[in-house]
Amino acid sequence: MNIMIIGAGMGGLTAGIALQKFGHQVTIYEQAAEILPVGAAISLWSNGVKCLNYLGLTEQIAQLGGRMDDLAYIDGLSNTTMTQFSLMPLYQEVGQRAYPVSRAALQAMLMEEFGHQNIRLGMRMEKIEDHGSCVRAQFSDGSIVSADLLIGADGTHSLTRTHVLGEQVARRYAGYVNWNGLVEISDDLAPANQWTTFVGEGKRVSMMPVANNQFYFFFDVPLPAGLDNQKAQYQQDLKTHFAGWCAPVQALIDCLNPQTTNRVEIHDIEPFMQFYKGRVVILGDAAHSTTPDIGQGGCQAMEDAIYLARALQINTFGLEDALERYQNKRNERTREMVLRARKRCDITHMKDETATRQWYADLYQEQGSHIMQGIISNIVGNPLD
Ligand SMILES: Cc1cc2nc3c(=O)[nH]c(=O)nc-3n(C[C@H](O)[C@H](O)[C@H](O)COP(=O)(O)OP(=O)(O)OC[C@H]3O[C@@H](n4cnc5c(N)ncnc54)[C@H](O)[C@@H]3O)c2cc1C
Repeated sequence: MNIMIIGAGMGGLTAGIALQKFGHQVTIYEQAAEILPVGAAISLWSNGVKCLNYLGLTEQIAQLGGRMDDLAYIDGLSNTTMTQFSLMPLYQEVGQRAYPVSRAALQAMLMEEFGHQNIRLGMRMEKIEDHGSCVRAQFSDGSIVSADLLIGADGTHSLTRTHVLGEQVARRYAGYVNWNGLVEISDDLAPANQWTTFVGEGKRVSMMPVANNQFYFFFDVPLPAGLDNQKAQYQQDLKTHFAGWCAPVQALIDCLNPQTTNRVEIHDIEPFMQFYKGRVVILGDAAHSTTPDIGQGGCQAMEDAIYLARALQINTFGLEDALERYQNKRNERTREMVLRARKRCDITHMKDETATRQWYADLYQEQGSHIMQGIISNIVGNPLD
């Protein structure tokens, strides 16, 4: 088939690589003239890593991934360790390590694998027309492109989603702001091979290792949406939000580079079940937009991509049949992930103070198995298991 993909994010590129491997002619159209990742890094849980392994990228992704052996929660004010344990039992159960990776490095690796010559940058899709025997997209430069199938991997503000659903859906503000970036690993911040999270007051500060001796860090603070967003103010704002927190948190604020730090107001979208219409199908954030609280948005985009490519490959009752199978397989799982992330988000960010304080108390009793079981339950059920 001749397939056009809208969006060269991790979902669109993974789909492109998989579909090319199955012999389709694929072109990706991306609105940005230059791809600038929306965040500094991402934790690819084992299900996301398996999608890349499936595409033959096992060595490449292992090289980009940080060595995250242990996990710890620490009281951010007193610096008391609440729980600390090895993640090896989790990795052994699911058969693959998790890899925190720099987004820029992941993006570059996926683009390289797909082939730069088949990515059209600076092409903003503005209109979709489904003609039954083909689908046409119109771009901001006036050009019109025709294909057998249009895959909307155009992210949380997806235009393709509006076409598929026949209406625009509103994003829901999750109630907190996230600052994220990369810093050099150093002992005064956290152990180099550990995912360390400081919690307190419904806020969180987290560090996980990526390749090249760097920590991916993020700060979460419950705040109203629409506040002033000035890079020059980031360190001062964080000093205010984390006043009285322990030395490693202060050291992290001191050493971060505000110019390369991102500030994001976190949203999700109420899950819906329709993922295709005619010759148009959506995947990734276009189909299910989640808060990052269980680190599954990008992993689910990759799962969608693999499942869609395989549905088109192994079913022989036509396009509509394959798209329906894709939709019916993916909408339940992704809905569950959005709702789990929302629940986790509310507990972490003190939507209900009693529930959050109970979680802090529970962390002191945690030996690792409960947290790991939660993560495993997100990983299993992926299309490659
Ligand atoms: C702070 C934060 C932390 C996160 N952490 C994690 C994590 O640890 N693990 C995890 O798995 N997920 C995480 N996520 C979620 C993850 O980033 C997303 O789920 C993932 O990027 C979705 O990929 P995508 O390809 O669907 O969309 P995107 O990455 O958003 O890509 C969409 C692309 O489409 C392009 N586009 C949009 N409209 C058009 C148009 N009309 N024409 C042409 N091009 C268009 C955009 O420019 C963009 O390049 C996090 C998200 C946030 C905000």
